[in-house]
Amino acid sequence: MPVLVMKFGGTSVANPDRIKRAAKRIGVEVAKGYDVIVIVSAMSGKTNELVGWVNETSPLFDAREYDAVVSSGENVTAGLMALTLQEMDVPARSWQGWQVPVLTTSAHSAARIEDIPTDNITAKFNEGMRVAVVAGFQGLSPEGRITTLGRGGSDTTAVAFAAAFGAERCDIYTDVDGVYTTDPRVSPKARKLDKIAFEEMLELASLGAKVLQTRSVELAMRYKVKLRVLSSFEEQSDEAGTLVCDEEEIMESNVVAGVAHSRDEAKMTLISVADRPGIASIIFGCLSDAGVNVDMIVQNISEEGRTDMTFSLPTDQVSRADKAMAELKASGGLNFTELDVDLDVAKVSVVGIGMRSQSGVAAKMFKVLSDEGVNIKVITTSEIKISVLIDRKYMELAVQSLHDAFELEKAS
Ligand code: ADP
Ligand code: ASP
Ligand code: MG
Repeated sequence: MPVLVMKFGGTSVANPDRIKRAAKRIGVEVAKGYDVIVIVSAMSGKTNELVGWVNETSPLFDAREYDAVVSSGENVTAGLMALTLQEMDVPARSWQGWQVPVLTTSAHSAARIEDIPTDNITAKFNEGMRVAVVAGFQGLSPEGRITTLGRGGSDTTAVAFAAAFGAERCDIYTDVDGVYTTDPRVSPKARKLDKIAFEEMLELASLGAKVLQTRSVELAMRYKVKLRVLSSFEEQSDEAGTLVCDEEEIMESNVVAGVAHSRDEAKMTLISVADRPGIASIIFGCLSDAGVNVDMIVQNISEEGRTDMTFSLPTDQVSRADKAMAELKASGGLNFTELDVDLDVAKVSVVGIGMRSQSGVAAKMFKVLSDEGVNIKVITTSEIKISVLIDRKYMELAVQSLHDAFELEKAS
């Protein structure tokens, strides 16, 4: 029988009633003749609560134990979903990551899926089971420890299962009815897109549009998974939601496809480091060894052989970075006078494949921000995106004015 993957995010399984509603949706697909693999997230708010408990207990935690704790939310919803389906007379059972097994790297809290052997679940489908409910976000390391895939990782579990089982489609059910030109919670003028290109979705996701985890888009692109985002709160047709697909399948093309934002950014500046070959390598090598994901980097002009080095990173990695730089200084590996930390920044980005062939987008973006009196602290660009770091209090304003200026509320 054809296989369908259906993923339900946190708000879609937030309580037993919501789980029932999702189970009814699954029943519809089972009735059509699909064997269904359901990937569930933890109930909304649960993973945050678990992360909070870990931080409270051990601020510079052992990532293996972090994973043991934060993976547990999905176990609850997987079991509850299987029970709900059984109550509806749909043959179903739950699977935790290690039982499948979902084999991952040992990069705890940010593991990558390496392989999903299909034999166990396929054998059960052959015995008459119609729905395999799999706990998303979690896997098993080569050392036999539980891993997690990074926040939002259930999306990636879903796409990886769709690829492994050759699923007809991977449907991501969430609390919005598709991918929008920007976060509909930030701009009321956000417009739902019927289709979005993989490359654009990849950039939007990596720049903060958390509707899909970046890695899930990467996998869908690589394995040609038909990926759709839709609402679990509305009746759905086969055409509903947003299809993430190849660029060639899209007729509409605004130069800018969307605006993304990321609230949890911090900026750190090393004051007065030597301006000579090898310094950047020492700083960023050390940060990388400490597990810090540096994003934007600027080196200021130097005076008398000394310069300031600024970089951005996720707010929750600031204490790690701080410690790594302090240790580097103490060991004589790097000389600097001060480490300045700015916790009140946000990143706003515009993304669009059209930028490859049309110039002037950056100039327009900077003009819009300047007209609003928003100061830009750091800029980075790539072929299809421009990102700026700004004071967090201007984030909503920046998103809304860029959305207006690039006329994203209108389809071209
Ligand atoms: P789930 O728990 O279902 O995985 P998430 O909270 O991870 O849901 O992702 C859905 C949220 O992503 C939406 O509620 C919305 O606020 C946010 N979001 C950010 N950018 C976008 C966008 N461009 N289009 C749609 N939703 C977006
Ligand atoms: N529950 C995890 C999280 O909140 C994984 C997910 O929902 O995708 O990040
Ligand atoms: Mg999510």
